[in-house]
Amino acid sequence: MPSTEYRPPRPFSRIYVEDAARDHPETARVLRRFSRSRTVPISHYKDIFNRPRQEWRAQKESPALILAARHGEFLYDASAYTPTFGHKRFHYNALALNCVYDCAYCYLQGMFPSAHIVLFVNIEDYFAATEAALAEGPLYLALSYDTDLPALEHIIPYTRRWIEFTRTRPGLTVEIRTKSASFNRFADITPTDNAVLAWTLSPASVAARYEAKTPPPAQRLRAAAKALEAGWRVRLCIDPVLRVPGWENAYTALVDEIAEALDAGKLEDVSLGVFRINRDYLKHMKRRAAPTDVLYHPYEKRSALATYTAEEHKSMTSLLRSCFARHIPADRIHIV
Ligand code: SF4
Repeated sequence: MPSTEYRPPRPFSRIYVEDAARDHPETARVLRRFSRSRTVPISHYKDIFNRPRQEWRAQKESPALILAARHGEFLYDASAYTPTFGHKRFHYNALALNCVYDCAYCYLQGMFPSAHIVLFVNIEDYFAATEAALAEGPLYLALSYDTDLPALEHIIPYTRRWIEFTRTRPGLTVEIRTKSASFNRFADITPTDNAVLAWTLSPASVAARYEAKTPPPAQRLRAAAKALEAGWRVRLCIDPVLRVPGWENAYTALVDEIAEALDAGKLEDVSLGVFRINRDYLKHMKRRAAPTDVLYHPYEKRSALATYTAEEHKSMTSLLRSCFARHIPADRIHIV
C-alpha cells in the first residue's frame, strides 16, 4: 500500500546556472554532485532571485540552487547589531545567500525576496579581495553571515578552503558560525589560530519549536566539544535569546549542559544577544514566514530595530551572564 506520509520534494531538483558561472570548475563539481537535477541556464542570478511576488514558503520547502559569480564588492562592513569582539576592521563576505535550515526568527526571511540558495562559485575573487584588504592591515572576517556555510559543505567545501587560505595569511582571522553538527567533516584539518569556529546554541525546547531542520543543540554541543578538544578556537553563541515561557529555566539549563559537555574555561568566548530585528525585515517576515509567536511579540521599536524592552534585555542578559560567569572569565562574555 502506498505511504500517505508527507515527504518533502527533493531539494535542488532544479539548478539555475548564471552565464558568468557556467564554465567555472566549482560549477562543474556541483553539477556532478547533483547529476539528477534539471539545469536551467540564466543570464543573471537576480533574474530568478529578485523576481517580485515569489512564493517564499513554497520555495523554502523545495529550494532551487542558483550558481552565480559575484562581481563588484566582496567585503562588507558588519551590521551595527553584530558583535565585533573588539576588532577594529570587522567585515563579512557573502559566499552564499540563504540557508538550508529554517529558523522561524531568521532575518533572511525578511531580507531576501527568494528562499532559493545562491552559491557564488568564484571563490578566487573573494580570496583576491581579502588579500588586497589585508595589505592595509589585520582583518577580521565573518564568513558564515547571510547563510550557514558549514551546513553547505556537502555541496561546496568552502569552509575547508577558507580555513586553508586563512592558515597562511597572518593578520587574517575568520569566524565560521554554524548550527550544524558535522565536526567530523573537518576533523582531519589541522587547527589554526586564524580561525574561530562558532556554534550557535539554544535550549532544546526553543530549537524544537523555532529552529526547523537544524540538528538538536546537544549534537551541536558535541561538535563544539570535539573541536575544542582538537585544539580549535571555539566560540559559543546564544543568539538570539528568546523570551519564551519558562525562559529562565530553559537558558539556565542550557548553560549547565554546556558546562557538563566541555571545558568552558577553554572557550575563546561566549556571545549573547537577545532577539532583535530590522523593523522592515519583520514586516516582510510576517508576510512570507510561517506564522509564529516569535514574530508577533509586542517588541519595542528602537530606531530601525524591533526588540525586547531595555528591562527585558537586561533581565535576559544578566541571567545568562551570571550563569556563564561561574565557568568563564567575565571578559570573555560578550553581550550584543
Ligand atoms: S541557521 Fe542561521 S541563517 Fe540558517 S535559518 Fe537559522 S538563523 Fe537563518
